[in-house]
Amino acid sequence: MKEKPMNAKITIRFWLALMVCLVAMNPVARHSISAMVLAQESKLDLLIKGGRVFDGSGSPAANYDIGIRGDRIAFIGDAAKSAVSAARTIDASGLIVAPGFIDPHTHTFEDLSDLKRKSNENYLMQGVTTVITGNDGGGPIHVGEIFEKWEKQGIGTNAGLLVGQGTVRGQVMKMTDADPTPDQLAQMKHLVAQAMDEGALGMSTGLYYAPGSYAKTEEIIELANEAAKRGGIYDSHMRDESSYTIGLLGSIRETIRIGREAKIPVHISHIKALGTDVWGQSVEAIAIINKARAEGIDVTADQYPYTASGSSLTASLVPRWAEVGGHSELLKRIDDPQTRPRLTAEMEANLKRRGGAESLLITSGRDKTLIGKTLGAIAKQRNKTPVEAALEIIKAGGAGVASFNMNEKDIENFMKQSWVMTGSDGSTGHPRKYGTFPRKLREYVFNRKVVTLPFAIHASSKLTAETFRLRDRGELKLGYFADVVVFDEKTIADRATYEHPEELAVGMKYVIVNGKLAVEGSKYTGALAGRPIRRQ
Ligand SMILES: [Zn+2]
Repeated sequence: MKEKPMNAKITIRFWLALMVCLVAMNPVARHSISAMVLAQESKLDLLIKGGRVFDGSGSPAANYDIGIRGDRIAFIGDAAKSAVSAARTIDASGLIVAPGFIDPHTHTFEDLSDLKRKSNENYLMQGVTTVITGNDGGGPIHVGEIFEKWEKQGIGTNAGLLVGQGTVRGQVMKMTDADPTPDQLAQMKHLVAQAMDEGALGMSTGLYYAPGSYAKTEEIIELANEAAKRGGIYDSHMRDESSYTIGLLGSIRETIRIGREAKIPVHISHIKALGTDVWGQSVEAIAIINKARAEGIDVTADQYPYTASGSSLTASLVPRWAEVGGHSELLKRIDDPQTRPRLTAEMEANLKRRGGAESLLITSGRDKTLIGKTLGAIAKQRNKTPVEAALEIIKAGGAGVASFNMNEKDIENFMKQSWVMTGSDGSTGHPRKYGTFPRKLREYVFNRKVVTLPFAIHASSKLTAETFRLRDRGELKLGYFADVVVFDEKTIADRATYEHPEELAVGMKYVIVNGKLAVEGSKYTGALAGRPIRRQ
């Protein structure tokens, strides 16, 4: 007799516990419970109803509604059941709802500061609601001033900044390849610290480029430590993505060493195996990074879904020693009969590394007649060797190039890693500036099935927000900023090509930035709803 009620009690407890577990496991139920309290306080501004929702966490889709009040997500659940009302409702049935995409590597610094291009429309049409810029070591020092300017004039997407080690070194030491004196090092550290205190998210390097490449690893560690002390990240276009100097794997080891010794999370920009010399090294690169991660070093990377990189003719072919002292010194070396043979010989080797003259496509530059032609075609036309033609172009003001140097297997290997996020590295003349995010979905998710849709969305939102420590962004979560995209799985695609790199992407029906509609019915609304994102 005594035992029976006990058993009954245990049974009731068991069932209660099971119910709680089931509710907790179901994202919709979990959201509804917490959402209703908030939602019933007052009417919502915007309700997105009936979509397949990917919340950015990497979980599969669930069907629920999302409500926005002001600049935040204020309701998640079943709107009809909860009887919530909104000033405006978007019918998302048959569409995908996801967090606004975050691009960790862009060259939008000039665009956002330009009154004609500050809307960042090419990114909004990709579903990108937040960009980070100042990468490759080229970021500004006075980030506070830039944030204020952006706040005053308005910007189309949110934007964070990185202070550039190349800019800092250039300011203190000009274009010398010398080591810094103790005083110069102190000045550089001070500039990094100042930019971090003004809200930079971290420090970027372009160790492949001049003058960033003139800094030894120890110098970088000293500067990175200033960013580390202030909660920043180290973001690097590595010293070598190919076989120019220390090699792809040597560069990955250098980046990891910087992370370990400066005690800072390290992020590899546009991870790739550049050129046939290093094709296939994605396997070893991934193994090295996974080992470092297992040892507790925070290593991540971003990647764009194209086989061509974008650079300048000078950066692709000219060795760094020839750039010491700056552009005027380079011009002197080109015409100096003493140095010219060594210069052309090294340029020949670099051209081979990049796949030859047919794999360099001119995408921008002073001479507009060259755009759309390969270096090989130009050389033939001028009856010159490709390197001679390249030197002529460099002397006449230089050119931007799309450099076809990657292999799909390496791209796919990197894309599958849990620590690789989507990043455009968008630059003028390369289609990635207009197409990266939709292209990854269309080509690598839907067509080739290299990664799943929830995986790709996570790699384009939450993973990036966490890596760069962007607070309350990157997920569809109650109380988070209302950066939301609604797109059509059937039509989402890039339109930009190497021939026509400035075609806007298609398929984004609605893009919401801080609660405001920036894209509506697949058209830019003219909203400037973006905000500077300062490190917090
Ligand atoms: Zn770069």
